[in-house]
Amino acid sequence: MNSKKKNVPAGLFKRCPKCDYSIYSKELQLSLWVCPKCDYHFRLPARRRIKMLIDEGTFKEYDSNISASDPLSFKDIKAYPEKVSESVKKSGLNEAAVSGTAKIGGYDISLCVLDFYFMGGSMGSAVGEKVCRAGERALRKKIPFIAVSASGGARMQEGILSLMQMAKTAAVIAKLDKERIPYFSVMCDPTSGGVSASFAMLGDVNIAESRALIAFAGPRVIKQTIKQDLPPDFQSAEFVRDHGMIDMVVDREDLRGELIRLLWLFSKKPSNK
Ligand SMILES: [Zn+2]
Repeated sequence: MNSKKKNVPAGLFKRCPKCDYSIYSKELQLSLWVCPKCDYHFRLPARRRIKMLIDEGTFKEYDSNISASDPLSFKDIKAYPEKVSESVKKSGLNEAAVSGTAKIGGYDISLCVLDFYFMGGSMGSAVGEKVCRAGERALRKKIPFIAVSASGGARMQEGILSLMQMAKTAAVIAKLDKERIPYFSVMCDPTSGGVSASFAMLGDVNIAESRALIAFAGPRVIKQTIKQDLPPDFQSAEFVRDHGMIDMVVDREDLRGELIRLLWLFSKKPSNK
């Protein structure tokens, strides 16, 4: 054994999944988890995402006790409740969404952030309920609503009940629209399936983070269905923006500033003239 060889502590470096570059963890933190070499935006857990976006110390969490139930007694390789409790242990969250109120640039907002690390950010009845309650909180308090999505779609272990969350969340967004309360949707990598097909695409402004995958069905399924090759950047945030599906693509470092700008714009009262 070479006694001179020093062990590198675990977690000191992170490898970029896109370009394989090794990045010093501290450096990655300073760059907001964006690879300095290839600009890959690392996926973020919900709490880190919230910390990055809001004014420090302003987050008040609601509904943290809401968690999944198992209406279908669903079992594949493992029983559904077992899968959920593994995710709870790993993430420290009760579900794949964190919601509450906060300030961004001094503006009061209601916020709901999905966590891809919790069962792929999938929307079951608990996530749907949290999105709805956050939207209804915005309605009651008359403050803008911001949803940040990162999701593989509906949670198949809850069957039709998870699909029903699409209509349920869309109904709350419609109420916000009727009351003219702004709703901004931020889509992160990846936003797909039943989440992109419901509340995530219903923002007054639909924003995606640079290079995020934005899709309903993934590229493999589409390729098999239409039996054609797809363009190389198919379903990237930039591709869907250029085809009119979303309004803007924003780099992570500009996201907070962009939201503040939108909050300012939408808070302006129309002039009487
Ligand atoms: Zn990279």
